[in-house]
Amino acid sequence: LIQLFIPLNALGFVYREIRQALVNVERLFGLLADKPAIVDAPGAKPLTVAQGELAFDRVFFAYRPDRAILTDVNFRIPAGHKVAVVGPSGAGKSTLARLVFRFFDVDQGSIRIDNQDIREVTQDSLRAAIGVVPQDTVLFNDTLYQNLAYGRPDATEAEVYEAARMANLEGFIHSLPDGYETRVGERGLKLSGGEKQRVAIARVILKNPPLLILDEATSSLDSLSEHAILGALREVSRQRTTLVIAHRLSTIRDADTILVLSGGRIVESGDHLSLLALNGEYARMWHQQHQSD
Ligand code: ATP
Repeated sequence: LIQLFIPLNALGFVYREIRQALVNVERLFGLLADKPAIVDAPGAKPLTVAQGELAFDRVFFAYRPDRAILTDVNFRIPAGHKVAVVGPSGAGKSTLARLVFRFFDVDQGSIRIDNQDIREVTQDSLRAAIGVVPQDTVLFNDTLYQNLAYGRPDATEAEVYEAARMANLEGFIHSLPDGYETRVGERGLKLSGGEKQRVAIARVILKNPPLLILDEATSSLDSLSEHAILGALREVSRQRTTLVIAHRLSTIRDADTILVLSGGRIVESGDHLSLLALNGEYARMWHQQHQSD
């Protein structure tokens, strides 16, 4: 009994440590955002994605009551289309992505996927339907292969290799002496921002979700790396409903619609050429970024 007790006790300690860490995170959120935790609605059903249309219907949102972040945000991404959101830092772009993922609930209005309010479906089914390529991808202390396969643990080897090829990672992996067996993460090989982002893209290719959120890295990449990423992103967003949070305008010229968010409101929307012709906020941002190139 004693032999059993010691490891269990140690486990109990680990469990308490983890719980404490979670409580701390909750407190942190509590301080930053005065919001109740998200729970499934009673009787919530799984999301069923037929087409994959994403709609924001007159959404208002604030992290804290005294400071509005999103005001009357209205837009629709038809199935398979790509919509990019641009705007100054702090405009609320990443907040849109957090709301789609339901880290927080909207204060007014609704977010709908194929006409189902995301508050009325299970969180598991919602998150399973959305692939995210974040700004900064977390790599585990494991082999590159395992880090890629994390996108879908039951994927076959052939599928993992194909995803790496589509994400433009093949050349990089073949240049490593241990190839796919290279250990990465904090205790292994450190990947560059662009390489990590391509790992995230390969994971999404394996997960194969109908909806995609791309949170473009803010840091500037060298042009070779940017080219590789753009090719990979184009591949992954083909035929998928895609919301791109963009920091560099050159990467989203091909979006079906570009939304300009400023102070939490959509102030302009249209494709690249029509927004340039409008000669407003977008045109100003475009000329500014291209002057400094
Ligand atoms: P950037 O281009 O710099 O990434 P952004 O447009 O994505 O900016 P958001 O991250 O959506 O901006 O943030 C919008 C506003 O909400 C900012 O002023 C930010 O300080 C605030 N904010 C973000 N997260 C929280 C939070 N958890 N609690 C309180 N305020 C927050």
